[in-house]
Amino acid sequence: MEITEANVRELVQQVLASLDGKILKGGTPSVTSAAAAGHGVFPDIDSAARAARSAHEQLMARTLETRRRMIAAMRQAVLGNLDRLADAAVRETGMGRREDKAAKNRVAAEMSPGVEDLRPVTFSDDHGLTLVERAPYGVVGSITPSTNPTETIIGNAINMIAAGNSVVFNPHPSAKGVSAFTIDLLNRAIVSAGGPENLLCTVAEPTIQSAQSLFEHEQIDLLVVTGGPGVVRAAMKSTKKVIAAGPGNPPCVVDETADLVKAGRDIVSGTGFDNNIICIDEKEILAVDSIADALKAELRSNGACELSRAQIDAVTGLVIADAGGPGHEGAPNKEFVGKDAAVIARAIGLDVPADTRILLCEVDAEHPLVWTEQLMPVIPLVRCSDVDAAIDLAKACEHGFRHTAVMHSRNIEALSRMAKVMNCSLFVKNGSAYNGVGFGGAGFTSWTIASPTGEGLTRAATFTRERRCALIDYFRIV
Ligand code: NAD
Repeated sequence: MEITEANVRELVQQVLASLDGKILKGGTPSVTSAAAAGHGVFPDIDSAARAARSAHEQLMARTLETRRRMIAAMRQAVLGNLDRLADAAVRETGMGRREDKAAKNRVAAEMSPGVEDLRPVTFSDDHGLTLVERAPYGVVGSITPSTNPTETIIGNAINMIAAGNSVVFNPHPSAKGVSAFTIDLLNRAIVSAGGPENLLCTVAEPTIQSAQSLFEHEQIDLLVVTGGPGVVRAAMKSTKKVIAAGPGNPPCVVDETADLVKAGRDIVSGTGFDNNIICIDEKEILAVDSIADALKAELRSNGACELSRAQIDAVTGLVIADAGGPGHEGAPNKEFVGKDAAVIARAIGLDVPADTRILLCEVDAEHPLVWTEQLMPVIPLVRCSDVDAAIDLAKACEHGFRHTAVMHSRNIEALSRMAKVMNCSLFVKNGSAYNGVGFGGAGFTSWTIASPTGEGLTRAATFTRERRCALIDYFRIV
């Protein structure tokens, strides 16, 4: 098919019209109408990649000051649409909580590092002056998840463009409408600040096949993959450089020295955040036996509903599709991923208050709820004989992902042992897991945490190549 502006628009209109009913229910202003104009939305990966290549070349001809203005405009565009983006994501994917998604979008807009992250390094000695600078890769291919659709695109776009790249996104098919809208919104902001068109591109119908085309396309210089184990394995087969942000199963250890009042508050807030669909959210609580009952009382007083043995059996039967265990990551039942605790409770015939944040399930260490990344507010708690046993179980049920771990303790030796043993990209001590990604904790934010390939919390500098330029024997001026 010949690619013309008219037929691209028509195709995008068709796709987005089919989503409109879903996204626009409840009288929300059309989030799809802007995307339907086709700003960055293409019929296939080839045309998207070629447009992104041209945009990258145009970006290289712009000043750094223009790039700074573009990033500022992108941040403002998101901040002006927080509720709209959150609402559209919940409606389209059927997952998560509006207010939490709006908070995630705000943090992505405000705290994703920009151009200031690209710091040149100099060496000066008797042999002259050497400058090391950070150069763009060119065109980045980015795969984004259904669980954080808008915030991953916002964070990736700010970081990757700040680094001088253009991007072709292949979003999760179940978030294609809101992803196209986010890309369109950001592209408009870029152009309004003097940047080129199509710096951010996507396809109207993202699929596994279009992701595969991205992995192999000659115009793509770097792959960045944010998702579960399947997509990480698929991307790693590509001959291109891959930055992979894969799954986690973050354990949360609580020992007998912890501030239990704070731990109870932090754990309910963390495990309930966006209905536990975030990869860093605490997924299992491993409590030292001597304080387990007191901790459970704190969890209940903060909005956890504790299930009986029979209710745990019923909920496990519903929410686990493939039971995880030692050496096997398992998989949740997608129907319940990201659903409210009250919705999951109702599915087993249990009425709980609508504001119930988590369903708390005391189980044995071998239970599948402990070993499977559920991505929903069904949270297992295991009693451990002492803190070392809890840390050892934490290490095992994290499956070696080296993603995220949390600990509540005031014992410096135990905190230090867990930090070393877990060897994770993110270790949060005495807070909610989300405090570690810029919500109420020091540091920048990231929605692409690259544990398998080791970059950790990605930032603008992550998406650059290092280049050295040496002047021999001159310009040491002291
Ligand atoms: P998912 O793996 O189902 O999908 C992620 C993306 O990969 C989507 O765009 C999907 O279309 C694509 N994809 C899936 N299988 C593929 C394949 N074989 N080939 C090519 N593309 C493929 O994940 P999801 O349900 O959208 O997100 C949840 C998962 O992502 C969880 O495991 C979570 O821990 C992980 N995640 C990790 C991070 C991180 O920063 N490390 C961030 C968000 C989500």
